[in-house]
Amino acid sequence: MILDKIEKLLEEVKGLNASTPEEIEALRLKYLSKKGEISSLMADFRNVPAEQKKEVGIKINELKQTALERINSLREQCETNEAKNDDLDLTRTPYPIKFGTRHPLTIVKNEIIDIFSRMGFTLADGPEVEDDLHVFTKMNFAADHPARDMQDTFFVETNPNDVTKNIILRSHTSSVQARVMETTQPPIRVICPGRVYRNEAITARAHCFFHQIEGLYIDKNVSFTDLKQVLLTFARELFGPDTKIRLRPSYFPFTEPSAEMDISCHICGGKGCGFCKHTGWVEILGCGMVDPNVLELCGIDSKIYSGYAFGLGVERITNLKYQVSDLRLFSENDVRFLHEFDAAN
Ligand SMILES: [Zn+2]
Repeated sequence: MILDKIEKLLEEVKGLNASTPEEIEALRLKYLSKKGEISSLMADFRNVPAEQKKEVGIKINELKQTALERINSLREQCETNEAKNDDLDLTRTPYPIKFGTRHPLTIVKNEIIDIFSRMGFTLADGPEVEDDLHVFTKMNFAADHPARDMQDTFFVETNPNDVTKNIILRSHTSSVQARVMETTQPPIRVICPGRVYRNEAITARAHCFFHQIEGLYIDKNVSFTDLKQVLLTFARELFGPDTKIRLRPSYFPFTEPSAEMDISCHICGGKGCGFCKHTGWVEILGCGMVDPNVLELCGIDSKIYSGYAFGLGVERITNLKYQVSDLRLFSENDVRFLHEFDAAN
């Protein structure tokens, strides 16, 4: 008899509903107060035969627990709803939304891509995990060139029988040029932006990875004059219309002749300052005429075609534009540093 009553109350309690604090309090009084249903069951409990006391006792506890939980959860729900309603102030000024910013390297990379796109260059991309063939062999690196050394390049897999099959992390984006030349006949006019890796100790001035943008132009009758004009236009677009350039002879395995390009210091205008070490010039990139060997190795007839190539470090250009003195800042993800570039976005 008492068990039936408990079962009935249990069903009732499970389905309890209320939406205001007053209704919830009424339910508490009805079931859980001293004069409530459960207390009156406790009074009846005295008359339960001894052999049934255990079973009935367990049932009454279950009922009490269920009622308590149900009423508490109704109360919580009610409080959350009230809180929601209180917050709804339509006259209040909204919180300012804090937008993220582009990374300074992305800002500068996009700016450089934009300048070359306007001169007719298209984008090319390639893998960061590359084989020796595309990174070194086709770029005319001698078999014993130090770049092929473990101290300079990260090796993923070595092949003792055939170095050209060594798998490495590319140490420059020239491998993308090799891939473009393999698959495309001239005219070719591409820029290849991407991340490159070198086995360097991480300091303020060197890092084990950085970003490059290389450019390649191959067609009939391409001369050094074309290269110089394109680079002058680039420098003036990036650093201002008064920028001057100068080319100094240099050496790269994949270009002949090769040059390093300096621009007139944009801080002092070429007069000489601490930034340009009082020379009036700062170095920004390497360039040259594509070595005929490279053209032939990549399947292009060097008797018909010629071309130029150039390569620059995005970190280097960013340092020049924004005077970031420590390379490590670019990869530390410190939002205080990143927010300094809000205005440049
Ligand atoms: Zn200067």
